Amino acid sequence: MKQIFKKSNYITLIILILLILSSGSIAYSSEPPFVIITIDVESRKFNDASWPMPEQVNAVCMNNVPCGLGKMTELLKEKGFPAVFFLNVYEYKKYGEKPIMELAKWFDGAGHDVQLHTHPQWAYDKARNLTHQYTLDEQIKIIKDGKYLLEKWLGKPVLAHRAGAYGADENTLKALIENDILYESSLFIASENSKVTALDLRKNVLSMYGPLYEFPVTVYRKHESPPFLEGLLKPVSRVRKYDVNWFADADEAEKALQKAVELKLDFIILFLHSFSFVEEYHNDGAKKARMSSIKNFERALDFIAKNKLPVITFKDIKDKNVDLTKYLNKPDVIPEVSVRVGAAQYIRRLIGINRGNYKVVVLSASILIIFSVVVIMQLRKRRRQNA
Ligand SMILES: [Zn+2]
Repeated sequence: MKQIFKKSNYITLIILILLILSSGSIAYSSEPPFVIITIDVESRKFNDASWPMPEQVNAVCMNNVPCGLGKMTELLKEKGFPAVFFLNVYEYKKYGEKPIMELAKWFDGAGHDVQLHTHPQWAYDKARNLTHQYTLDEQIKIIKDGKYLLEKWLGKPVLAHRAGAYGADENTLKALIENDILYESSLFIASENSKVTALDLRKNVLSMYGPLYEFPVTVYRKHESPPFLEGLLKPVSRVRKYDVNWFADADEAEKALQKAVELKLDFIILFLHSFSFVEEYHNDGAKKARMSSIKNFERALDFIAKNKLPVITFKDIKDKNVDLTKYLNKPDVIPEVSVRVGAAQYIRRLIGINRGNYKVVVLSASILIIFSVVVIMQLRKRRRQNA
């Protein structure tokens, strides 16, 4: 009897060792997160010129660096990962249907998932950029028109949507349901445009609005500490999305993904734009590559591959009948990422200087300095007169 018990113990041990070896990692006690790589495809305005969407395919930047959609799809292909391309089909008004259709067919032919991205100003009202600035009836039509085009080009049902600049509201969700589009990804807690954030929906995990599933743009909270007086100075905290343009560097990309795995998020949306790999574009067509974003994307893809995180698309969810209901009602958690930054950056963050407001901050500081100098000079003058 004793002998049999020992034998079964050995067998259990061997099975356990084999399981650990075959998984390559024992980091998860449950399923690892699904990664959905989403790429918003659209023209982009740079400082002095606009980079047209149809030119973004085989773009090559200065120093012969490939920096367009071709580079993106090549990196995806190396890993065998499919991505979701949210296509701003409404640009057909400017470029004609053919180049936009060819782009859609190219993504689709390479095994990617092409879904709907709405920047309505391209085809409807130039003065209204955000989807939520349109009435419910208008939104139903905008989505219907976009869905019609994509379905005509690809012969596949449109399943998912993201509003341009996250500009969706409750009417957008109603308009999508009306159009039988039941996967949505416009909720982004760090954007004021995202009016769906105010609804009774989870902010960083899956939830439902009627029959529609909302996949929020995944975020993490970044805590930046100064390189000195640790413990005395509080870190500056900001909400960041998992965007190759938003990660400070490749280490942060990896760290943020690792934290999402540890926190057992069910879905991570890795965010890109079709122009993410370009830093500058000039009206003579000259472009400068954004090397940091290319490196961030490469490292993120390496992490996903190494940790065997399943990469899926909305089409996969539909085709493979992924049961989404088991990912509902989860705690609405946000991964926390702590980093050490330089003194100058810490101070900049602390007083809230960013690209959007630096001119105002510099102007206010200059006025303050000039005012102080004038006051001091006046005081000195008076003192001299009194003396
Ligand atoms: Zn967009």
